[in-house]
Amino acid sequence: MRAHGVTVALLVWGTVASAAPADTVRVQAARLTMGALLDITVFAADSTQAAGALESAYAEVARLDTLLTDWRGDGDIARLNAAGDTLWHAVAPETREVVGEALRWAQLSRGAFDPTIRPLVVVWGFRGGVASRAPRADELAAARARVGARFVRVDSAAVRFTRTGMQLDLGGIAKGYALDRAAAVLETHGVRRALLDFAGQALALDAPPGLDAWPVVIDDPRRPRARPLAVVPLVRASVATSSQRERTVTRGGRRVGHILDPRSGRPVRRTRQASAFAARAVDADALATAAFVAGAGDAAQIATRAHASVLVVAHDGRVTRSAKFRVDARRRASIAWTPAPR
Ligand code: AMP
Ligand code: MG
Repeated sequence: MRAHGVTVALLVWGTVASAAPADTVRVQAARLTMGALLDITVFAADSTQAAGALESAYAEVARLDTLLTDWRGDGDIARLNAAGDTLWHAVAPETREVVGEALRWAQLSRGAFDPTIRPLVVVWGFRGGVASRAPRADELAAARARVGARFVRVDSAAVRFTRTGMQLDLGGIAKGYALDRAAAVLETHGVRRALLDFAGQALALDAPPGLDAWPVVIDDPRRPRARPLAVVPLVRASVATSSQRERTVTRGGRRVGHILDPRSGRPVRRTRQASAFAARAVDADALATAAFVAGAGDAAQIATRAHASVLVVAHDGRVTRSAKFRVDARRRASIAWTPAPR
């Protein structure tokens, strides 16, 4: 589903004293794309520059949506999934890049993150069309046999599986990748100060005029209407949060969530929420999903290997942070981090 049309709220901050002349207009837009709301706030010289930058950024995300979606159309991933064979399939450079990043995360997370999870996603009914019962053991076993990042190969411009019947689902990483690309497009239009918020995942460029950073709230899943779990000051970095709340189905009388453990083949229950902080949105997105699956203890180790940080709320409500992620009494987060080599 995609909504056409844009909501643009034009707010002119003509009198922001500390702003350079090039950054005096604040423009915010929100559009439904990749099945979620992408909200972008930019500061620009004038509304024409802002509108051009926003239009190009959304066009880039729509292009990536077509390439990367696994459930409709004839983009790269949809075609690869429909084939289900072991032949090489030529793909766009961007598709090749996201699949490569996803495979790297499968390794880094020791299989907690797995972009070949799709047969399990389908068998649990997250692509529609199944009864409300939980999958039978034989159905689960058949789906699990078709899951495994080690059965995927990439070369410079193509992807193949080494087993038949395999499929990719980039739902755990594509929004992050799209955020990085959208931010790069904004920069080519001369926008330096911006915040992009894609359904629970934020990516910041430079701070708004007069501020050190964009304050990004991580909700407390134990008390959603109370104080936030943390407020992360974001500059040139990304924070992603994964939880089962966003998408659930009822199976066998129990509500189950859309993040699955590739090792058990079942929806993850040990975690309530996992947030990840990284320089690139693609890494924050994949790490949040990986941390959700891996659980609090392993998540911190995975984050350290990736030069990133995590904040995980376990099923029992216990909060775990990786060493460099601190939150003070006023819930202001500070994250000491070394950017990963690019
Ligand atoms: P996110 O909201 O970024 O955590 O991504 C969740 C989405 O990623 C799900 O809706 C599935 O499409 C996909 N997914 C589910 N489980 C996994 C997993 N273990 N590894 C990678 N992707 C997954
Ligand atoms: Mg993710």
